[in-house]
Amino acid sequence: MSSNRKVLMLPGDGIGPEVMSQTKLVINWFDKNKEVGFDVEEDLIGGASFDKYKTPITDNVLEKSLNADAVLFGAVGGPDYDKLPFKDKPERSLLKLRKELGLFANLRPAIVFDALSDASTLKTDIVKGLDMMILRELTGGIYFGEPRGIEELGDGKKRGINTEVYTTDEIRRVGEVGFELATKRKGIVHSVEKSNVMESGLLWREEIQKLYEEKYHHMQLHHMFADNCAMQLVRDPHQFDVIVTTNLFGDLLSDISAQLTGSLGMLPSASLGENNIDGIRKSLYEPVHGSAPDITGQGKANPIAMILSFAMMLKYSLDRNQDAELVEKAVDLVLQEGFRTEDIMQPGKKLVSTEKMGIEICNRLDRLI
Ligand code: NAD
Repeated sequence: MSSNRKVLMLPGDGIGPEVMSQTKLVINWFDKNKEVGFDVEEDLIGGASFDKYKTPITDNVLEKSLNADAVLFGAVGGPDYDKLPFKDKPERSLLKLRKELGLFANLRPAIVFDALSDASTLKTDIVKGLDMMILRELTGGIYFGEPRGIEELGDGKKRGINTEVYTTDEIRRVGEVGFELATKRKGIVHSVEKSNVMESGLLWREEIQKLYEEKYHHMQLHHMFADNCAMQLVRDPHQFDVIVTTNLFGDLLSDISAQLTGSLGMLPSASLGENNIDGIRKSLYEPVHGSAPDITGQGKANPIAMILSFAMMLKYSLDRNQDAELVEKAVDLVLQEGFRTEDIMQPGKKLVSTEKMGIEICNRLDRLI
């Protein structure tokens, strides 16, 4: 492969390398059949990095990530590493990458493929054809706010403290991403907070409203309380196009939207940072799922979330919308033709391994060009 866009591939632990192998097949397909325009390098992360270097992320990998145009990340963690001190845990590598790359916007699409619309725990007519995006602020809010900690109160009693903090700049930069995403979709933004009981929520609402009036008044903006949003997501998810929300509420709401689509093995995600001088954002693409130690090494992992994360990379980092759609169509075709990994298996369908699913997706790509 030859070109100027650099992609760093970090498969990680557990099923990470298994689903990444299938994504490599798709990348190789693009290499063979289209001018790909990016160079791929691979390295260790998480437990795999700890095993070799006694750290979940080396300075070298951090440096490569900072120099890459996009990072493709598998999954990290597993029972072998549970007893390690906090600083050495595989999951620290992901937090460090998010921090060092300044990834403040987390995009989680919730798309229900027609072939799987009866796999959701919700009624088919509620979820059929769903295509929405949850945009979660990722570097601010209560997970990072100060003061925090556990204080001794005396008499053996303690007080646990966390603080929800948001500044104008933090709200506006994620708000911008939300409106820009919606511009390329149906043009509807729901801004979600709890301004009825939280001052940080009130500021969130005011800043998003100002941004809308300044630059995006041709679009639709709705303000919604987070508790109502949780209810609306399971009552009528089709009303949503882009939901933009805080770190804490996004964490919860994106898991609800995940459930709408049926399986963790189908859910991709992207985390974006600021634009650099070339207009390219630092970015990391990963499936929503973890390293799934319960199915590791058994050929049961669904590679679709990882492959769709690669499709998001094509769309948001490499500006290759048509290629991204090609991957999505290939996945759709494979599902329509009844191929299923165990997590999405339904009666009368064809049960396939991780590897077979990757091969079938590439076969559909062949058919589509
Ligand atoms: P998990 O997402 O790994 O697994 C939850 C359940 O979903 C399991 O039953 C698993 O078999 C199933 N599953 C997940 N992905 C699947 C796929 N692609 N195909 C088929 N089935 C799939 O979550 P967990 O069990 O809570 O965590 C396991 C480990 O992963 C822990 O060490 C955790 O810290 C780590 N983790 C890492 C990330 C990450 O790397 N981003 C995210 C979440 C959890």
